[in-house]
Amino acid sequence: MAELRKDPILGDCVIVAPERVARPFDHEPHRSTASESCPFCKGNETATPDAVLTIPDDDSTDEWAVRVIPNRYPAVASSSAELPTSDYFERKSAAGYHDVIVESPLHEKATRNLPAAQIARVMQAWRDRLAVVSSDEAITHTMIFKNEGAAAGASLEHVHSQLLATSFMPPEIEAELAAGQKHFDQTETNAWSEMLDRELDDESRIVALADEYILHCPFASRFSGQMCLYPKASLPGFESTSDRDLTLLARLLKNALKSLNDVFPDAPFNLALHTAPPRDARRHAYRWHLTITPRLTGIAGFEIGSGSWINVVSPEDAAARFRDATG
Ligand SMILES: [Zn+2]
Repeated sequence: MAELRKDPILGDCVIVAPERVARPFDHEPHRSTASESCPFCKGNETATPDAVLTIPDDDSTDEWAVRVIPNRYPAVASSSAELPTSDYFERKSAAGYHDVIVESPLHEKATRNLPAAQIARVMQAWRDRLAVVSSDEAITHTMIFKNEGAAAGASLEHVHSQLLATSFMPPEIEAELAAGQKHFDQTETNAWSEMLDRELDDESRIVALADEYILHCPFASRFSGQMCLYPKASLPGFESTSDRDLTLLARLLKNALKSLNDVFPDAPFNLALHTAPPRDARRHAYRWHLTITPRLTGIAGFEIGSGSWINVVSPEDAAARFRDATG
């Protein structure tokens, strides 16, 4: 059973989930990845738990296009078991939701190869499932993420993303919420509005613009080739995205992933969607955003030791190369 342990000095929470070691792994080069052995392929639905949400195919309402299932090897779980307690070492069961979003009924390995309309259905599943789990008052934080490629942490190659909803606030999100609120208290403006206005003026790190959305390489990108997607408008939560905007965002994401693959062929990557935590008083000063992080180099000693980052590709250079690829 997954448990939550609080660092006694820093106060940060760590999820300890030994069961996840037993996850199936299909990236070994000699192993068959034919659809008959893949639990995510159409026809193999009985190999996974029942769906908690399906998005139908436009052409046939009987067929699923996107399927959301509970993770068989969850990092958090809805059941709560008693754990040994201590007045110093704080631990509790890691309550929450851990879903897998199967992004296609077909055995596709890269999200960039899905049609834009299918990526829009995936984003619809993200949006609708985030809204459902956010309504649970035990939930403090929600995130969609994706690991594509074994080196990025994917254990099954069939295109999928994941939703993790936790009863604690991860330090990265806490830092963003605090920074957004501090900026608002000092200026009565949104921190992300000012940053995006200045990025638009500068232009050197902009990768693509689509209507009310901006894709750029952040000024202080932690990883080589890191990209970030934002709405220009002050929108705290991804859950409020309209169907029309999902279509726009799907095209932008597909193009971003194609550009990434053109510049860094077959690079594994992680995607993370940060959306304002439900019920947090600082929501109003937040801005949802989606980060694409290529895993071109390993995380090494300095990063592990310090929590600081060394990026060997300038964000301006990365943005120029992505723009050329897009063009
Ligand atoms: Zn498959």
